Amino acid sequence: MPRKISILGATGSIGQNTIDLIRRAPDAYEVVALTGAGNIAQLAKDAIALKADVAVTAREDLLDDLRDALSGSGVEAAAGAEAITEAASRPADWTMSAIIGAAGLAPGLAALRQGGTLALANKESLVCAGALIMGEAARHGATILPVDSEHSAVFQALVGEDMAAVERVIITASGGAFRDWPLEDLAHATLDQASSHPNWDMGQRITIDSASMFNKAMEVIETREFFGVSPEAIEVLVHPQSMIHALVGFCDGGLMAHVGPADMRHAIGYALHHPARGHLPVERLDLTKIGRFDFTAPDDARWPALRLARDVMAAGGLMGAVFNAAKEVALDGFIDGRLRFTQMAEIVEEVLERRAEEAAQGRDDMTLELVAQADHLARRAAEAAIQKRAG
Ligand code: NAD
Ligand code: MG
Repeated sequence: MPRKISILGATGSIGQNTIDLIRRAPDAYEVVALTGAGNIAQLAKDAIALKADVAVTAREDLLDDLRDALSGSGVEAAAGAEAITEAASRPADWTMSAIIGAAGLAPGLAALRQGGTLALANKESLVCAGALIMGEAARHGATILPVDSEHSAVFQALVGEDMAAVERVIITASGGAFRDWPLEDLAHATLDQASSHPNWDMGQRITIDSASMFNKAMEVIETREFFGVSPEAIEVLVHPQSMIHALVGFCDGGLMAHVGPADMRHAIGYALHHPARGHLPVERLDLTKIGRFDFTAPDDARWPALRLARDVMAAGGLMGAVFNAAKEVALDGFIDGRLRFTQMAEIVEEVLERRAEEAAQGRDDMTLELVAQADHLARRAAEAAIQKRAG
């Protein structure tokens, strides 16, 4: 029996890597839904090739374009955020959650409510609403498998282990585009410079977040929410080669490290084949050629985002949603030229201070509505903070 699968965010970097794996074994899968946003040609091409039941674009203004591109194929076309959530709620055994940003939260929840497996690349949903996501998964008997490379690595290092024996979880960071830049140059980093990653080929937003370490800050929170480890047990280690993705330290002093090439198809494929291991088309590392692995401690002055993640975890409640929303707006501000690179962290810190009341909310009773409200207010506060700087 083929497995029914859906891919949310199918046209993005993770989505395309997922499709690459699916296409190698077409008989094994029956595709239910593919979703995208502006890239209608790609969405339609993949939906037709994979014989999806439905293709959905987030952009309502592009529905006619999608209909045209799909005409005669038998693939249903739909558009808008609600249509994406509806498509995500159609029965599927395995769903890839790879929309970028908080927009991935509601569709991810809809998929979880079917009780199948959610392969979670959309770290933002755990940062915004970890308690809600994990609670819904437990309530509906759904399985969440991490697709972020570090979290897949931790997950793999924990197979057969007792969480009570875990002392520390170490996630690595390449250091991104500006690891070796003089600190005083960071304020003048351009969009092009921030958009190229030394090791990974990813979407533009996460690439810039890697340069600022906001990506790693989000991943620290993701580690806390997904594995339930205390913030003090989570460490970040700069490892420029990006081959050790994470290490788990146990109470007997042993460290289990996960080593592999910087290719997201490993983590995606692990989630696709779990609990078995599938044969994957990724490079086999030749350690004699690599020769060495380097490690350094992250520098708080270079990457203030890491300190902010600690503040967010200490505050708890809805501060994760505030953090993510402020970060998304600040990133937009950098991309459209309204903010300097170093001002992104300033904006996020200011919003965290202004919206401190969210720390008391959603601790035990987190709902999608509360998260959406915190997200909305934080976006407004971030916009105001950006405008204040411009004016
Ligand atoms: P991307 O920008 O390449 O693709 C994003 C996808 O989301 C596209 O299909 C796009 O059409 C869709 N999308 C964009 N805005 C949307 C909206 N408002 N509503 C619905 N859909 C929308 O992003 P990516 O790099 O593939 O990252 C996807 C997710 O995976 C992110 O959460 C990211 O943090 C995570 N992730 C990515 C990588 C990577 O290697 N790219 C690694 C680890 C984790
Ligand atoms: Mg990662």
